[in-house]
Amino acid sequence: MRVTEPGRGAQRRSVARIPSGAYVPLVSPHDPLVQRRGYGGPRDSAPHAVDVIVIGAGQAGLCAAYELRRRGFIGYSPDRTAQPGARTFVVLDAEFRPGGAWQHRWPTLTMGSINHIADLPGFPVGSADPSQEAADFIPTYFAEFEDAFDLPIFRPVLVHSVTRSGPGNAHPFLVRTTAGTFSARAIINCTGTWTRPFVPYYPGAASFRGRQFHTQDYPGPRAFEGQRVMIIGGGISALSHLDDVGAVARTLWVTRTPPRWRRSAHPHSRGLTAKEGSLIEMKVRARVAEGLPPLPVVAATGLPINDWTRSLHDRGLLHRMPMFERLTPEGAIWADGHSVSVDSIIWATGFRAELRHLVPLGLRSPHGGIALDDTHVKGDPRIHLIGYGPSASTIGARTAARSAVRSIQDVLDRTYA
Ligand SMILES: Cc1cc2nc3c(=O)[nH]c(=O)nc-3n(C[C@H](O)[C@H](O)[C@H](O)COP(=O)(O)OP(=O)(O)OC[C@H]3O[C@@H](n4cnc5c(N)ncnc54)[C@H](O)[C@@H]3O)c2cc1C
Repeated sequence: MRVTEPGRGAQRRSVARIPSGAYVPLVSPHDPLVQRRGYGGPRDSAPHAVDVIVIGAGQAGLCAAYELRRRGFIGYSPDRTAQPGARTFVVLDAEFRPGGAWQHRWPTLTMGSINHIADLPGFPVGSADPSQEAADFIPTYFAEFEDAFDLPIFRPVLVHSVTRSGPGNAHPFLVRTTAGTFSARAIINCTGTWTRPFVPYYPGAASFRGRQFHTQDYPGPRAFEGQRVMIIGGGISALSHLDDVGAVARTLWVTRTPPRWRRSAHPHSRGLTAKEGSLIEMKVRARVAEGLPPLPVVAATGLPINDWTRSLHDRGLLHRMPMFERLTPEGAIWADGHSVSVDSIIWATGFRAELRHLVPLGLRSPHGGIALDDTHVKGDPRIHLIGYGPSASTIGARTAARSAVRSIQDVLDRTYA
């Protein structure tokens, strides 16, 4: 089911559109993304029976696939019957080529300007030229990993829905996709956040006559040359856009709450220390265990004071304005009557977890998140989420994958021994 990959240029940019805050679900055949990529709706077929299905082949999905291989699971093939007793797995990925969300990142995000990318298991990332585009380097690294471990990744396969085929834990899940129906005894969901950009609602957004972008479809600085650009958001993506766009345009930075600056223990690099990383992980884990939605990274870390952010400050890019009251055809207006005119707006307002295909399972807690016990859904050890909550980083994915596969093996041993 591997398909020929189109050229890189064809994959580079996501759909241009005005962010409205209300996104058509990816599972709808009317979604422009679905139509543009030609996925179509779910295709009916007799179920392909697999033990474990991994959904998504970004860093999290690849770590999960590696662990399944390491523990003796065999890649599913529709043309081959597995040996009796052998356990099978498959990875279903909506992309046309390896790289997960990294292949869609903007051209000026380079290996020198990302925070840090952790090694995939058993396959060191090695040294990278800091000027190389992350959207080239990382997908190439992922592709080499997929080949080295001969991972059974089917793409482009969009998962439309996951449902239960009966009550209790002995009935398999039914996974409806653009490549037919699969049945699975366990699911490892690794679908990330990139396909769910979040834009908060502000009155007047539809009346603004300029162009609006989100981090997800940020085209790089050249589109803004000579303009006045308002960048909204208090996280690292907003700083990254300010850095880029500030070199070619006049910028205005707007955040909902005043930025919380913290002195970095790593003043010369952009990444977090191991101690900072584990502190965030602990905080996020506690929230997710209660079924609360995970918070944005910046809420746990604040913004670092390091060489990079000092340089932004020295360039005069960090004068921050509070949130406006509403947008106008020309720009924005504040409650005190102060107004600005801008040519473009960039919403660096984050992402939500892509979990829409799991809606039929009814996993949401009354608090709006999915309550997890380690990596699995509370009450159902056959459904694991990696890249969600505490494991939403390239480092966290690897440990989470190990734990998820160990737990799935236990469940399969108990239920189907
Ligand atoms: C701008 C930006 C910069 C970042 N920089 C860093 C960094 O420097 N270091 C770091 O550790 N983290 C960074 N992160 C966080 C980073 O995205 C994660 O750490 C990690 O790469 C996410 O991996 P993932 O596998 O969870 O998701 P993704 O890479 O998003 O992969 C998810 C995969 O699932 C597929 N998928 C989604 N829905 C479906 C479906 N219904 N059916 C089938 N397939 C589906 C997608 O097509 C995709 O291939 C950054 C995030 C952003 C937004």
